[in-house]
Amino acid sequence: MMKPPIANAFFKHRALCSERRCSGSRWLAPRVLLCLAFLGIGVSHSYAVTSYNISLANPEQHLVQVQVILPEGSSERELQLPVWNALYQIRDFSQYVNWIRAKDRAGRPLTIRSINDSRWQVAGAQQGAIIEYEIFADSPGPFGAQLNSHHAFFNLAQILIYPVDARNQPMLVRFDQIPQSWHIATPLPADPDGRYIAETYDRLVDSPVEIGSFQESDFDESGARYRVIIDGEPADYDAETITSVLHKIVAAATSWMDDHPFSSYMFIYHFPHGPAGGGMEHSYSTAISLNADALARDPEILASVTAHEFFHLWNVKRIRPQTLEPVDYTKENFTRALWFSEGCTSTAADFIRLRAGLLDERHFEQELAADIGELQRRPARLRQSAEQSSLDAWLEGSPYYRRPERSVSYYNKGELLGILLDLDVREASHGKAGLREVFQWMNLNYAKKGRFFFDSDGVRQAADVVSHADLGSFFQNYVAGTDEIPWDDFFRVVGLHLVEAINTVADAGFTASRSFDAPMIVAEIAPGGPAELAGLQAGDTILEINGGPPGQDSAESVSALSPADTLTVKVLNRREGQRELKWKIGSREEVSYDLKDLDSVTPAQRAARAAWLKGEAQKPAAQ
Ligand SMILES: [Zn+2]
Repeated sequence: MMKPPIANAFFKHRALCSERRCSGSRWLAPRVLLCLAFLGIGVSHSYAVTSYNISLANPEQHLVQVQVILPEGSSERELQLPVWNALYQIRDFSQYVNWIRAKDRAGRPLTIRSINDSRWQVAGAQQGAIIEYEIFADSPGPFGAQLNSHHAFFNLAQILIYPVDARNQPMLVRFDQIPQSWHIATPLPADPDGRYIAETYDRLVDSPVEIGSFQESDFDESGARYRVIIDGEPADYDAETITSVLHKIVAAATSWMDDHPFSSYMFIYHFPHGPAGGGMEHSYSTAISLNADALARDPEILASVTAHEFFHLWNVKRIRPQTLEPVDYTKENFTRALWFSEGCTSTAADFIRLRAGLLDERHFEQELAADIGELQRRPARLRQSAEQSSLDAWLEGSPYYRRPERSVSYYNKGELLGILLDLDVREASHGKAGLREVFQWMNLNYAKKGRFFFDSDGVRQAADVVSHADLGSFFQNYVAGTDEIPWDDFFRVVGLHLVEAINTVADAGFTASRSFDAPMIVAEIAPGGPAELAGLQAGDTILEINGGPPGQDSAESVSALSPADTLTVKVLNRREGQRELKWKIGSREEVSYDLKDLDSVTPAQRAARAAWLKGEAQKPAAQ
């Protein structure tokens, strides 16, 4: 996934049945068997189909009515609503459940009781049962569930409870009471009756659903069909340009991996004018939300986020760490692998954009240098390893945790480790392999064989095999360890070195950050500085910065200011209410980085760089 970048005021970051008349499973079974067989889903117990009806009758109130029809089974059945999905954060979706009740197929009430805050038990369900509940859905973005008068977008894990004993059985979903002129877009296959089918609950909730009056286009590439769904103001985007960019990304990525493990794939975009900026990966789709104004200013963000989310169809969805399987919807899945599953997905996305002609050498190296600066400015890099940062992902909702003294980002350090691992493999294999070969080996030896890799050891295994070398020290020092990274030792392979410069940058005098859909909170204020003198307090909620909403853009607008410029901040203070504060911002010195050619670049280094910039091996792969 790609979360909206954390906005930070100190420094700039780069970059969110109708079977209500159903008479029972005997009636349902033959039809379900038929359509599931048609879709190639092997179902030996076709009667074991859980069926959902999702009513969109109340968009103005953001209320979704859900009916779950359980087939015959044991008398006592447990039902679970996930506490997390998509984001590695416990979000307790049950907070939005207004009420829940149960009845049997004849409409007689059944007893349903809570086991904990996200799990229920229904009794007397041996002949099947109908569970009904109402859930509030107004969380915007690709990780959320939202029903309003404009559209509906569902991360289904946020709104659908599942029968614990049938999580791995096929499921059917129907959407009812859809406003006129709205259409449904989802990567799930539909049966002739308009019901959507999933082999399991996991597959069901891996399938986002957009319902509204969106714009749709499609294209074919290398034997697969790609559908593009766009929800936004037509004046805010050019569908042809977007489709052209997507086509280039798809062609570059599938050729880089020499694979496209599906026959169809769906891109879903939202371009709202409010806070946005993030993407969520799925096996057969991605949902991406970008602020329309940010997109107009910097159209390249679309390619950057899309290449990352698209590559996830391999890395994390199919090339998957064992520690994320099976998904535990009741609590955290702790994993040491996010530096690879997220960070190295960004590295692969860099190579894909380079190959697609959507990123040139200079911008690539500038982005790399900026990423290095982001890591080097975090004192926590000497204490928290990339693996530890992965394990600690679940703390990212905390403003304190996000401070530079406390944490490094597994996205940031992971992307850099991907670059360095690529260079290390190139050097060790004498140019015969790189990160591409690592990913292809993992795809063939894990994903295609239905196996999961064991975190960093699984990556190391692949790197050792394709380089015919022992890369243990790389993993020990920089992945599991916190050694300072000797950047020049790595970049020498391609004739580059890191150049430091001291810059005077604007200093707003405070740090404030936000987690994806939470408000921006002031975390720290420089003692005696102008922000403190103006009355800003830690814990204040920032409502506006210089007249604009806080978020990715406001962070950039602060960093774009010069020392002595006036900053106007509208804040909400717990005791004093809403206030507007103004002060002249100060300055401080900051180390920045650039990647430059070595004084003398050898022909061998030039050849290595040319291959590097395509993400390709320099010589035929070793057998
Ligand atoms: Zn990601």
